[in-house]
Amino acid sequence: MQCHSCHRRPGDHLKTTPVKDSYKTVIVGGGIVGAGIFRDLVLNGVETLLIDAGDFSSQTSERSSKMLHGGIRYLENMDFPLVFEALHEKNLWLKLTPHLTREVPFYMPVYKDSKRPLWMIRIGLFLYDLLSSFKNSPFSMKNRDECVRDIKGLNPEGLSGAGVYYDGIMDDAKITLEVIYDALNEPHAFAINHTKVTNVRKINSKNTLTLKDQLTGEEKNIIADQVVYALGPFTDSFLKQYSFYHWKDVLLPSKGSHIWIRSTDLPIAHPIVMTPQDEYGDRVIFVIPHGEKVLVGTTEVPNKDDLFHVKPTEEEIQYLLKNLNLYFPQSNLTKDKIIGSFAGIRPLVKEENTGGDRGKTSREHKVFQPASDTYVIAGGKYTTFRVMGREITQKICHRFHLSYNQDKTESPLRSPSVVGPFEWHLPSETELIHICEKEMPKTFEDLVVRRLSVLSRAIWKEKTKEDFDTYFNRHLKTLQRYLKISAEDIAKFN
Ligand SMILES: Cc1cc2nc3c(=O)[nH]c(=O)nc-3n(C[C@H](O)[C@H](O)[C@H](O)COP(=O)(O)OP(=O)(O)OC[C@H]3O[C@@H](n4cnc5c(N)ncnc54)[C@H](O)[C@@H]3O)c2cc1C
Repeated sequence: MQCHSCHRRPGDHLKTTPVKDSYKTVIVGGGIVGAGIFRDLVLNGVETLLIDAGDFSSQTSERSSKMLHGGIRYLENMDFPLVFEALHEKNLWLKLTPHLTREVPFYMPVYKDSKRPLWMIRIGLFLYDLLSSFKNSPFSMKNRDECVRDIKGLNPEGLSGAGVYYDGIMDDAKITLEVIYDALNEPHAFAINHTKVTNVRKINSKNTLTLKDQLTGEEKNIIADQVVYALGPFTDSFLKQYSFYHWKDVLLPSKGSHIWIRSTDLPIAHPIVMTPQDEYGDRVIFVIPHGEKVLVGTTEVPNKDDLFHVKPTEEEIQYLLKNLNLYFPQSNLTKDKIIGSFAGIRPLVKEENTGGDRGKTSREHKVFQPASDTYVIAGGKYTTFRVMGREITQKICHRFHLSYNQDKTESPLRSPSVVGPFEWHLPSETELIHICEKEMPKTFEDLVVRRLSVLSRAIWKEKTKEDFDTYFNRHLKTLQRYLKISAEDIAKFN
């Protein structure tokens, strides 16, 4: 069957397509929020182009704590509607993407001097399950001996017990990519990565966007009937450039950093929720096993870096290590045990009543409309991406006289990636070709980090016996047919 408007067959939509001169809707920003709106719009029949300056999901949406969760911490802020919504979304995505997510028990140890005693934790966890309409696997309470038995190396001194509740862990970059691949099965869906919007103008009252290919330098102007900005932390800096939007800053950017350590250095079977009491106030640090590595984070501090190149500071790394060593005193975790680290910016929307306190600022999203044909979405959480774009999709469908069906996004994703995070395998040459043709990597980093879910050489070593350089040099000629890649890129990759 061919698509009447563009003469492509359904499978062809997964390949990179030449950019047309005009689109009904253009979404700027291919993180999870842009990806979610893209899928909703095209499933509801709106011709849409999704654009990202880098690879899809290469900014905040691959730097999260990788949890699908209701946000146990937000119960204290009485953010019940957000927790309710996020829990329902978490449980939906656990069902829709079982190959990209896992439901796991989170242990929250309680010590004699903890701020919240066990009885309070029990009430909180009951409320958490209640807000999920009891769709969460049910919480339980563990005594001291059970905790020490279940969590190898946990500091037993002063330990009273733990509350255990269930949330999801996920591969954040992969979910965003698969949401985009799913959308691309629709004939009127188009997506391009490594293409930056470098200018926006109103020409004859039409939105004219200048796109610049970041790999070739080529430029092109396109026209969009409707524009949606899903720019996450880049929202303010981007929109302020254009006087006709009269944009005033809406974000309270909040930086969060994580470190990865080998699971052999911290062999815990289940995630732990650490609740340190220190100068940072009521922070929560998650310690989450992901196969051969353990993720530790996060912090919550103002950002001083360039938005596209955010990195953990020495102080943040020491803070995470200090708390790990308090909870796991025998593990002696030092900086040389870190095999990877990353930082991201939470695009929180400023609130009047929190006095700039990032921890207390709500994770709710907001939609702005700086022009009648332009929407801006900011805030929210990864977990709630599907519901975030509903309001915008509904309005755009209305403008194009299309009926809107919100149930369409409750369907499973149709184009799974070749390499999944939980059943990882080294792809064959045929599979590598499939990845290059269907999963839209353009650079070596896109391929290794986001399509093969390998963060670094150190992590590659943990996953496979085949040497990194040998494997990629063996496939270099094939890869060069699709990617911008040289033998030097392979040698340089850390
Ligand atoms: C430390 C941390 C931990 C978190 N943990 C969790 C968690 O465990 N669970 C959860 O639910 N949420 C979590 N979150 C929140 C969640 O990660 C974010 O809310 C979400 O990823 C934001 O997605 P986004 O699409 O809005 O932004 P982004 O993913 O940043 O996407 C914006 C995109 O816009 C693109 N862009 C910018 N400028 C241009 C331009 N000129 N032209 C074209 N494209 C452009 C960028 O390249 C980028 O890809 C966490 C956030 C942080 C920072």
